[in-house]
Amino acid sequence: MRYVIIGNSAAGISCAENLRKLHPSSRITIVSDENERAYSRCLISRFVDGRLKKEGLYFKPKSFYRDYGIEILLGHKIIEIEREKSRLLYENSQEISYDKLLIATGSRAFRPDIEGLDLEGVHEFHSMNDAENIVSRLKEVSQLQTVASYKESLL
Ligand SMILES: Cc1cc2nc3c(=O)[nH]c(=O)nc-3n(C[C@H](O)[C@H](O)[C@H](O)COP(=O)(O)OP(=O)(O)OC[C@H]3O[C@@H](n4cnc5c(N)ncnc54)[C@H](O)[C@@H]3O)c2cc1C
Repeated sequence: MRYVIIGNSAAGISCAENLRKLHPSSRITIVSDENERAYSRCLISRFVDGRLKKEGLYFKPKSFYRDYGIEILLGHKIIEIEREKSRLLYENSQEISYDKLLIATGSRAFRPDIEGLDLEGVHEFHSMNDAENIVSRLKEVSQLQTVASYKESLL
């Protein structure tokens, strides 16, 4: 039996961990379009303000996937589920078959239709990647601005 889980975050890894306990010999694969092992989104603000190092955001030690015999495929976005063939297609035309599938794809940031949100320096705040982009950008920031003062500075 091959279990495939799309999503390597809180839901995906806790499911994989418990599946392993219930099914010691099954094949378990997690696929994620992010490039990180599972981390807590709740803590990314602490990474941005320096209270936590990146290592402090991960749910599990590096050895977790190996220890639990879980295959992890990072940086792979699933773009189609072919239910009749029990297989998933990646963006790069590769595919992966499953016997049982869990979709643990969570949520994504929504950008409301507000003028200026497409400007450089406007970030979403949902992923480790967003947090790292903000941290690297902070080095160039000399003054924190409110939205109102930022708008004024654009006029
Ligand atoms: C800044 C911030 C602070 C938060 N603080 C709190 C808090 O204090 N308390 C609280 O209870 N909750 C908080 N949350 C919410 C909490 O982080 C989420 O509820 C939790 O992450 C949901 O976990 P999940 O596994 O369901 O999905 P997600 O964490 O959304 O993960 C889904 C994963 O699936 C991947 N994925 C999606 N689509 C595909 C695809 N097509 N192919 C491959 N991979 C895909 C995504 O890249 C992602 O890695 C916070 C969230 C944020 C962003």
